[in-house]
Amino acid sequence: MAEEISEICSRLRIDDEEDVVLDLESLNPNPEQTKLSLLLLGRVLTDRNYNLDAFKRTITMVWAPVHGLVIRVLSPNLYAFQFFHWRDLMKVMDGRPWCFDNMLVLLKEADGEEQPDQVSIIHSPFWVRLKNLPFNYRSDDIVKALVGNMGEILEVEEDVLGIGRYRRVRVMLDVTKPLRRFRKIKDKKGRELQIDFAYERLPFFCFACGVMGHSERDCHGVLEEDKKETLGWSTALKATPRKGRSKEVMEEEKYRRSKKILFGETEVLKPVHSFL
Ligand SMILES: [Zn+2]
Repeated sequence: MAEEISEICSRLRIDDEEDVVLDLESLNPNPEQTKLSLLLLGRVLTDRNYNLDAFKRTITMVWAPVHGLVIRVLSPNLYAFQFFHWRDLMKVMDGRPWCFDNMLVLLKEADGEEQPDQVSIIHSPFWVRLKNLPFNYRSDDIVKALVGNMGEILEVEEDVLGIGRYRRVRVMLDVTKPLRRFRKIKDKKGRELQIDFAYERLPFFCFACGVMGHSERDCHGVLEEDKKETLGWSTALKATPRKGRSKEVMEEEKYRRSKKILFGETEVLKPVHSFL
């Protein structure tokens, strides 16, 4: 009996000790020692098993960091990527989205405050193409409005002449949401038009629900009996490789400065047309 009581007492003391909160502020840690730098956290967007060694090998080869890279596995699908030069890290961040075996690699800069098992990475930037835009509706403002509800707009590619097949905008997408296929617009004449989207370097995604990271066979978002009828997504969302862009840029560069003059000449021609 006495032994039991003493055991209960000792357990209580341990519980009491466990309840004492250590306030890290009181430690006054050396800022140099706690400084977090050049560290990315990442995960592969999939529920399937994949070859870990192949992933590490491939991603190191593709990123080709000049100053080296150390990869550590924090949990089955969470990695720490330690870079040693900001140029290497920026090249990787600016080059997103990255894929491994057609699966999206999600990345974010570590803030240092969150516990590794609480890390959530659900955003990735993508270049989105807006196809089949009427020539009068290609301004930056219209492009921004068309993709404004998809996520944060990071960059709108300059369009000097406004006569290409599409406009490009870089948007931070939430990968838990379905890929947008189009946006409807009402023009000045009151007609409803559909502007289709395509995504560059799009990884594996589900044709039944439009979310990246799984196939329609593994889809939990759509009922089995509805799957055939609701295959609303297709490879049409994958943008084709861009060919001949540098030639176009060189050509546009010639006219960049003379753009005003170019359109000025059109104005001069107007009276001639009205006379006819
Ligand atoms: Zn799905």
